[in-house]
Amino acid sequence: MSNETAHIDQFLLIHSARADNWRAVTTLADAWALGRGERAAMETALAGLEAVEEYHAYPGTQLLTALRERIATNDAGGAAKLARRISNSLLTRAYRGRPAEWDVHDEMSPTEVADVMPPATGETGGRRPYFEALFVNSQPSARWPAFAREIGRLRRPEDPFIYEPVIVGSFEDAICATLLNPDIISVVLAEGFPYHSRHDAPVLRSVLDPLGETDSADMSALRLARALRRVRPELDVYLLSDRQVEKIAGDPTADAIRRVFYAVEEPLEMHLAILEGVQTRYETPFFDNLKKYARRPIGTFHALPIARGKSVFKSDWIRDMGEFYGLNLFLAESSATTGGLDSLLEPTGNIKRSQDMAARAFGADHVFFVTNGTSTSNKMAVQALLAPGDIAVVDRNCHKSHHYGMVLTGAQPYYVEAFPMTAYSMYGAVPLATIKRALLALRAEGRLDRLKLLDLTNCTFDGHMYNVRRVMEECLAIKHDLIFLWDEAWSGFARFSPFLRPRTAMGAAAEIEEWLRDPASVDAYEKQQADLGDTPSDEALLTTRLIPDPRLVRLRVYQTNSTHKSMSAIRQGSMLLVKDVDFHTVEAQFHEAVFTHASTSPNQQLIASLDVARRQMELEGYGLVMNAIEIALKIRRAINEHPLISKYFRALGAADMIPEEYRQSGFTDYLAPGSTWATAVKAMQEDEFYLDPTRITVVCGTAGFDGTQFKGLLANEYGIQLNKTSRNSVLLQSNINNTRSDVAHLVRVLVEICHGIEKRLSDGGEGERATFAARVKSLMTDVPDLPNFSQFHEIFRGDAGRTTPEGDIRAAFFNAYDPSLCEYVPLIGDECDRRLREGPEMVSANFVIPYPPGFPIMVPGQVLTQETIDFMRKLDVKEIHGYEKARGLKLVKPEAVTAKAKR
Ligand SMILES: *Cc1c(COP(=O)(O)O)cnc(C)c1O
Repeated sequence: MSNETAHIDQFLLIHSARADNWRAVTTLADAWALGRGERAAMETALAGLEAVEEYHAYPGTQLLTALRERIATNDAGGAAKLARRISNSLLTRAYRGRPAEWDVHDEMSPTEVADVMPPATGETGGRRPYFEALFVNSQPSARWPAFAREIGRLRRPEDPFIYEPVIVGSFEDAICATLLNPDIISVVLAEGFPYHSRHDAPVLRSVLDPLGETDSADMSALRLARALRRVRPELDVYLLSDRQVEKIAGDPTADAIRRVFYAVEEPLEMHLAILEGVQTRYETPFFDNLKKYARRPIGTFHALPIARGKSVFKSDWIRDMGEFYGLNLFLAESSATTGGLDSLLEPTGNIKRSQDMAARAFGADHVFFVTNGTSTSNKMAVQALLAPGDIAVVDRNCHKSHHYGMVLTGAQPYYVEAFPMTAYSMYGAVPLATIKRALLALRAEGRLDRLKLLDLTNCTFDGHMYNVRRVMEECLAIKHDLIFLWDEAWSGFARFSPFLRPRTAMGAAAEIEEWLRDPASVDAYEKQQADLGDTPSDEALLTTRLIPDPRLVRLRVYQTNSTHKSMSAIRQGSMLLVKDVDFHTVEAQFHEAVFTHASTSPNQQLIASLDVARRQMELEGYGLVMNAIEIALKIRRAINEHPLISKYFRALGAADMIPEEYRQSGFTDYLAPGSTWATAVKAMQEDEFYLDPTRITVVCGTAGFDGTQFKGLLANEYGIQLNKTSRNSVLLQSNINNTRSDVAHLVRVLVEICHGIEKRLSDGGEGERATFAARVKSLMTDVPDLPNFSQFHEIFRGDAGRTTPEGDIRAAFFNAYDPSLCEYVPLIGDECDRRLREGPEMVSANFVIPYPPGFPIMVPGQVLTQETIDFMRKLDVKEIHGYEKARGLKLVKPEAVTAKAKR
């Protein structure tokens, strides 16, 4: 095999490598058939596939046996033909809809092309959705084909879905199959299987060992069920037992099992249960009802003329809108909450059920659907959780919705700084030490009781993921009832990767919950207390990995995600996830927040798309996210290992994006030599920050482009869109929508751009080369320092602590409503410089938020420093919210400052 397998991404690429490997087998078979290759080469390639193929229903034993027989009997032509058929079927996924694909004797005529696009009629595209069910059993493998046939016979024409069995015989194989085969969405366990796989393929070891599962006395089906659900919580797991099923079902740890069956009972029951389990995830209560609603004849006398589309389709002037969107959009529009449509503001029917199902899928206790984006979800959470005067420790670099939320609610933000990445004009994330220091400072000021919330962005725009569990545990050790708001606008999808889930709010909260239940946790806490002594110094607290008191902890975790940014929701579809043991104490406030922020005319299509996005992720999210990660790794490698592209461009790895001190495991990058799946897993578990592989910062300054310029070039010349840039980089993101063709297109475009540069440099001679070098140098080295938050002016500090920097942002914000209290000072000019030198201090009257980078350079009430002004002057972006170039910086007048100070 190629160097493909030598890399860390081996595991992450196993899935997509399948198609490549089959193509390789086909090529070798063709060569053999044409007398240009050896039979042995094909046999070896095929043997290399076998361990992984066992975890997939197709091509299955029958076709694989036939292929081996043809090879054994020297039927080179027959083998080549069959290999090609299998390869094509995998590629086009034809085996999912065409039973003949599974038949050895069906040789499709070469002109017959399998349909790649699903047919466009009927509820499910005219084809029943296909999945695979894993059966773990203890029967000898010779019995498996007969067992598979028995399962096949259970199929009925009225089944809503169709599935094929995958049969394995050990704990290890079961884990591998669920990891490697995303089509598996149901698992049936029989008891009595061994731990070890009968294979000892290196690929198996490479996948399993880092997970830390080991052979032990407990080889029960329950243990396997728990292990499987840890990997993929959305799976339905069933247990077949011939022992005391009543006892198993009553086991307190049996919650990983959906249903227990007595093994000798009617197998049809099991078949029906499998289908019903999938149906439970397939159901989309709001969307299902909306479709029904659209089909009913309805006369509307409410205020939404567009509903039913008559004003559109009968019009000579706007009919094109109807033709563009199609009739269903208008049939599904309604302002009614009758007809079973439910109310988003006070859901009791199918919206409530849809939200409950989303809570299940995302591991929350409650979910609020939000139809105005995460901008609104954040404001809702901030408003519901904070009252005027409460303190929130908040990343200064977070999305503006948090800052505006603080203004609205009158809370006092205590800004903390992310580590800067000056070379690329961007910020990382906030180090845990900074957060702990803030908590300890508030404690020293006697203000810890006023602190209510820690508010952070995870992951950041550029892909920094916190060690969420560690942050929460250490903070809870200092303040046991601190509330956490994790803005996961970008990373809602991460739930569906076992690899990224621990670094999400809900994933980490689940782990902490489990830890809180474990009796050993109290001992760990007591031991640490003894070690720390009665009055530990701040220094000791800062350098110790603190353990909270499990008896005191109130676990209160909130997460917002822009479902539209990483899943199949329509723009602005967002969710607010709640996992809060004290939710009942703030529930009324959340309803107020909904009433405050939600439109009274929420969009039906948006709600439906949230419902559908959840369905998709529960049924195929695992495979989609795996694909997004694979694509990302392919892009990273394509850029950094391409001889021409890598001369001018570079995708930044973990070592570039995260300072060494925050990579405790020593992990450097996915592509680094020596990186393995095991080192990546270790980094994911231990490191303070971890780089989300799907967010790829590509340096373009080295190709002579600033970010904005390069973004424009890609969009205008090549139809490639991206949205974030910095002075010398652009951000590429892969998501569940990307395909390998996208990677190919990107690579082709980059090669073309590089050729252009090379040509220009060689045609232009010395002069051109000097200009280019100067341009690169300016982009890469002449970078502005990133300003830290200075401070709130004394007059806007409210009752802040003597040494702590929180401020009364609301007072400062509304101060600017009185124009007589404000003045403008040009950014460029003597006055600004003189004021910096001699005073009086310049105090910003409002927010100034440049795009990019999109975080406030100034907040209301902030004292401006030389660094702030320098940064503003060097900014070369067009869009700066809150700054009018013609008038200058909007400041609080010195007289107004003095007057306020006297009061
Ligand atoms: C995009 C974004 C938001 C706002 O979400 P919308 O859905 O666009 O309103 C909030 N926080 C972060 C970190 C974001 O990236």
